[in-house]
Amino acid sequence: MPEQSPHPLPGSPADSQPPPRPCALLLSGAQVVTVDDERTVYTSGSVAVDGDRIVDVGPAREVEARWRPRRTVDCRGRAILPGFTDAHTHLFQSFARGIGDGEPIRPWLNHFMWPYAVHLDAEDALTAVRLGAVEAARAGITTVVDHHYAPTDPETVLAVADAIEEVGLRGAVARGMTGDRTKIADARGLPDALYRHGTAEELELTRQCMAARGPDARVRVWPAPLNLSYGDRDLVRGAVALAREHGVRWHTHCSEGAGDPLSYLEAHGVRPVTWLAREDLLDARATLAHAVWLDEEETAAVGAAGAGVAHNPCSNAYLASGTMPWLPLREAGTVVALGTDGPSAGGRQDMFEVMKQTLFAQRLASLDPAGVRCEDVLEAATRDGARYAGVRDAGAVRPGALADLVVVDLSGTAVQPVHRAVSALVYAARAGDVVMTLVGGRVVYEDGHCPGIDEEALGARARERAARLVERAGFGPLTVPWRHRERRLGRTS
Ligand SMILES: [Zn+2]
Repeated sequence: MPEQSPHPLPGSPADSQPPPRPCALLLSGAQVVTVDDERTVYTSGSVAVDGDRIVDVGPAREVEARWRPRRTVDCRGRAILPGFTDAHTHLFQSFARGIGDGEPIRPWLNHFMWPYAVHLDAEDALTAVRLGAVEAARAGITTVVDHHYAPTDPETVLAVADAIEEVGLRGAVARGMTGDRTKIADARGLPDALYRHGTAEELELTRQCMAARGPDARVRVWPAPLNLSYGDRDLVRGAVALAREHGVRWHTHCSEGAGDPLSYLEAHGVRPVTWLAREDLLDARATLAHAVWLDEEETAAVGAAGAGVAHNPCSNAYLASGTMPWLPLREAGTVVALGTDGPSAGGRQDMFEVMKQTLFAQRLASLDPAGVRCEDVLEAATRDGARYAGVRDAGAVRPGALADLVVVDLSGTAVQPVHRAVSALVYAARAGDVVMTLVGGRVVYEDGHCPGIDEEALGARARERAARLVERAGFGPLTVPWRHRERRLGRTS
């Protein structure tokens, strides 16, 4: 990456200004999309970083006159923005990328994802997590909420947190829990192998993992019942209690498919989110993945509680699950963040794609091109993502905030010309346009490399282990080069 020296403000007598102060890094001359309180965009701005914090941001010449950086990176033709939060991912599913498509959520789980989870061993999971975390770092993702549910023994869960930290990201491993079997789980055919522990034991194992990752850990552990709709109610109560006790969020899949609230209503006489609200379990610590199928009462309750929702438009489209009620949830007060739902349900962890698909899905569903703007989805991916994940002092490029930053190349043919940086970032840029990712001032990706990670060796290990997993789980038929359409409803293709 080209280097340049800072230059003093022309016309300013040197003795009228305080001498420049030292700092670690200066990102110079970019379009800086701050997403700060005023939503300031500097068309030629610079960002100074020292330690784990942003120490200055503003017009390039002014910032450069104030600092004497140890390193300067020329960011002309680039954008700087806050790092993305992937609000719902499953890094352990990296080996599942590209197979298992063409089914709605319930058969997809039964035929593909549950067998995948059951056959994955700890070393597979760790290799897949490393692969997924590197992919995230390369895509400008600085915080991940990794809903990890296979395998969930404490040793593996803590090793997953370590692996994410080794790549340099921050966030949480949301430990997926099943607990006591429910009638809904029986009716849905969830495999026994996913039910290794009863409710009390699951909560105790999660408590141990949470205690092992103290409040200062860059990656913490959150309690995460696998699914609100078919999970044990005491497991949910216990998860919320643990989150409140340890001062963290809790996480779960919530009303992803249309059948989820209906089967819950049939079993319990109440819809799942209404039950959460009535039990006083819904507050700002709740982070609900999907929330596609909420009724008006549930939407109002999530908003009134200031709870978080992770919207996963690529996954929702891949599995044909439905379109989340974006505007009603945001207007009610919900913290809406964006997620990829991992590499298996959509192919990649690319927040640029997620932002764009959010816009497109909402516009198709509402037939209103003005209801959701590119500014809204960029806020959700950055500023609101940090709020959702409970990362303080992040999600905006402003002095004093954590230096979680992304530098994006805007000079490519597919992005030029850039009339508005926000529009270019949401509609035209892709994960491959990221040239640098910083987390807490540390470079975790730059110009094709994640420092300290041997990506070639990691890729080779992932391919080898994934091939063995495909064989063990009997997924061979899913890997045929061309799948011919089966006869369906008397029609042929
Ligand atoms: Zn998910």
